[in-house]
Amino acid sequence: MLSEGCAAIDVVEKVITMMEDDPIFDAGTGSFRNLNGVVEMDAMVMNSEENCGAVHCIQKVRNPIQVARMVMEKTPHSILTGSGAVQFARLHGFEEYEPALSDVKNPSEEIKGRERSLRDIQYYVEEIRKEDHIFSTVGVVALDQAGRLVAGTSTGGIRMKMPGRVGDSAIPGAGTYCTREIGLSATGEGEKILRMCLTYQSARDYLNTGKLTDSLRKNVKRASEIDCICGLIALTRDGEFSFAHNGAFMPVYYRTNK
Ligand code: ASP
Repeated sequence: MLSEGCAAIDVVEKVITMMEDDPIFDAGTGSFRNLNGVVEMDAMVMNSEENCGAVHCIQKVRNPIQVARMVMEKTPHSILTGSGAVQFARLHGFEEYEPALSDVKNPSEEIKGRERSLRDIQYYVEEIRKEDHIFSTVGVVALDQAGRLVAGTSTGGIRMKMPGRVGDSAIPGAGTYCTREIGLSATGEGEKILRMCLTYQSARDYLNTGKLTDSLRKNVKRASEIDCICGLIALTRDGEFSFAHNGAFMPVYYRTNK
């Protein structure tokens, strides 16, 4: 698409849509369910004009990234949440769709039979998370022939999250960030990533030093210091690409005109 002259925003939307439609990822179809057994998704796009659109806790749509783009392009707002995001999606023709996979256990079933005080549930969830450490949010950054950068991220959040929980992915400067010079997307433990302003800080360090990989590594190291498992991808206006992560794995794909 890029070699044919398509806009970066179209490429980011298309590639994230493909990953949302692939049940292997925790985004769109196949997203983790929350403690009530419901899928609530966060998605965001941001461009080099520093415009962004995001949805938080959106339910029952197939492609949250497409709704996020519409928030950016068709509203004066940056973020729509919950029922408002769903209402906006329906108004723009997004049909009702169930992203939860039927063969994935509903957490409320897993918890059944246990004493269901809030404290027990929290303990149980923390125990699961210790073993878990699986993050499969998706992110894309693209640079088009006109020099426009766009970054996007889409997620079902973390496994067994509390209803209404919002992670880093669709918070500007936390899980997604884009300026004229650099676009970034992050994955990992959302609570810690958003407290660290991970993508914003990585962008600042790159702007101050001009060293892309060093800036990403420095911020991933900062994350390690607070036991935050995370990863970052980044692309600059000059077409320089890099990534860094401290988790067990983070699949990354990139392609240039060379
Ligand atoms: N960062 C995401 C969140 O906390 C999870 C992930 O990266 O898989 O919602």
